[in-house]
Amino acid sequence: NPTKTNYHPIKDAFWDQSTKVPYLALAKTFEYIENTSGRLKTIEILCNFLRSVILLSPKDFLYCVYLCLNKVAPAFEGIELNIGDSILMKAIAQTSGRSVDKIKQDAEEQGDLGIVAEQSRSNQRLMFQPAKLTVSSVFERLKDIALMTGHSVQNKKIDKIKGMFVACRFSEARYLIRSLRGKLRIGLAEQSVLQAIAQACFLTPPCQDYPPEVLNAGKGLSAEKLKVQMDNYTLILKTTYCEFPSYDKIISVLMKEGLEALPTHCKLTPGVPLMPMLAHPTTGVSEVLKRFENAKFTCEFKYDGERAQIHMKEDGTINIYSRNQENNTTKYPDIIARFKSAVGNDVKSCVLDSEAVAWDPEKKQILPFQILSTRKRKDVNKEDIKVQVCVFPFDLLYLNGEPLVREPFEKRRALLKENFREVEGEFVFAKSMDSTNTEDIEEFLEESIKGNCEGLMVKTLNVDATYEIAKRSRNWLKLKKDYLDGVGDTVDAVVIGGYYGKGKRKGVYGCFLLACYEPDNEEFQTICKIGTGFTEEELQTHTSFLKEHVIQKPKSYYRYDNSHEPDVWFEAVQVWEVKFADLSISPHHKAASGIVDPEKGISLRFPRIVRIRDDKTPETATSASQIAELYNSQAQIQNKKATDVAEE
Ligand code: ATP
Repeated sequence: NPTKTNYHPIKDAFWDQSTKVPYLALAKTFEYIENTSGRLKTIEILCNFLRSVILLSPKDFLYCVYLCLNKVAPAFEGIELNIGDSILMKAIAQTSGRSVDKIKQDAEEQGDLGIVAEQSRSNQRLMFQPAKLTVSSVFERLKDIALMTGHSVQNKKIDKIKGMFVACRFSEARYLIRSLRGKLRIGLAEQSVLQAIAQACFLTPPCQDYPPEVLNAGKGLSAEKLKVQMDNYTLILKTTYCEFPSYDKIISVLMKEGLEALPTHCKLTPGVPLMPMLAHPTTGVSEVLKRFENAKFTCEFKYDGERAQIHMKEDGTINIYSRNQENNTTKYPDIIARFKSAVGNDVKSCVLDSEAVAWDPEKKQILPFQILSTRKRKDVNKEDIKVQVCVFPFDLLYLNGEPLVREPFEKRRALLKENFREVEGEFVFAKSMDSTNTEDIEEFLEESIKGNCEGLMVKTLNVDATYEIAKRSRNWLKLKKDYLDGVGDTVDAVVIGGYYGKGKRKGVYGCFLLACYEPDNEEFQTICKIGTGFTEEELQTHTSFLKEHVIQKPKSYYRYDNSHEPDVWFEAVQVWEVKFADLSISPHHKAASGIVDPEKGISLRFPRIVRIRDDKTPETATSASQIAELYNSQAQIQNKKATDVAEE
């Protein structure tokens, strides 16, 4: 019974600890987490489970972490589990003796193919009992499936899935099928997994060869001190992960050297994409000047393309990574081919931060983002490229064996310009201006907009000017052209529901329910309904994409008001960038509720879609606290306007 309070990761899985970690122990832990609400409780459950694995096998520990994250490799390796429902249904049908049609019908009714798989399994009687599943056998087979290519790959995948499926016990089938679909969705975000790992390593140090002070670090401490120490461990782990997001290496260091050794062993390295520094929105030039009153700063054009982190290793290999650490190398063979002509003779290895932007070589001008998005996403042939791309580098993070992230921006920028050369239409330093005069900034902002840019990025040069990995920093401010129209920043929201279209829009969804993300409770909170600004063709496209992601019941981590219940609910899979007139306190929407108002949330008024954000995951959508900040800064502007009028 997953809801019982005395759940035990070892006993409940009938786990003899001299054997490999049974998959059932992990499945039962998932079940328990799925039925638990509250982040801290979830972390405690996972931490306890990980502690029961930690001294047994470093390999199984790593596999458990990957399975919790529904991954089989780091994002930048591009090995994804995303098996289509038709393959999964065939595998379930062939092993359970049920028809695909019946399984499909059940899945539509239940809204969860995992549950249907579990129920189909329990109706089955077998002559021979197959070997029990272990965490390692499941992980390795999942990875094999994700890597399969070539001739009759579908049948090969089905066979492998069937091999696991016949051996499933209890809830194993549910989580196996959900993992294969790439949607584990038990309400366990990566930040919680990191915290659970750190706590487990603190409470049960993985290596018995550690010095006594590490082995005994947690012993005899008061609850308060214990918390401080564990928080410190969590911070080290999270910080390391942002700089070096590879569990393979991190867990290997954790197991052999201990958590405190992470910063020495897992540092910024070409070939491993770090999480990028992010910027804060501002409401206008005067806010920028106020914020940077005593600091030296620079303004740069804010190019409207796709972030490109370019890595060159000592062996000459070049890779390009996205904002989310995905490997975009095969998307940009053109950038790779010509990168060396921009690299100075003394550069042996480097990591650059840049924006890749669509470029018109004849008119020698920047093209809108929409043109860039027509390019194929991977395995692009250089000969087939129709949209030329120009790279605008704006930061240098690593050079010849040395990370530069802790150096001030002024120095990083100088090194960038010294060690690389511009090539027209291909590789051009982000245009910048160091004047702090209001008129100059306003003029530069106008110029950026005329040059088809989104506005400006304003950055500190020498004080508080390090590259803050993974942080949304106040030392980088964005001044977008939309602010000039009084619109403020756009919001990146997740589509979680749809309303059937009426009249001319019959047959498609005519309106959608959007949500922001609240990372502490890992929930999606509704922020607006959006139904205007779509062409008929766009509605068709959204409908055919989203209808593949319909779920029957709203998830426990969706926060909404019954008055806005949509006709259909969607899995949180797609992020839309949305413009709006302003933000208002809402009795119906739940975004940022409890921050600005104790109960009411915030909603967007007159929202219109700008674009789909394929480069953002639902968990990197605009957060509840960002929404609250936008609301507060809007209130400040309104107050200021009111005072100005009164003074006039
Ligand atoms: P965020 O990245 O802040 O979550 P976002 O992805 O919607 O939001 P913006 O808010 O538009 O991005 O602004 C930041 C992005 O602007 C960067 O991630 C980068 O891709 C792009 N950019 C363009 N020019 C520059 C520049 N000169 N310096 C830094 N970033 C730039």
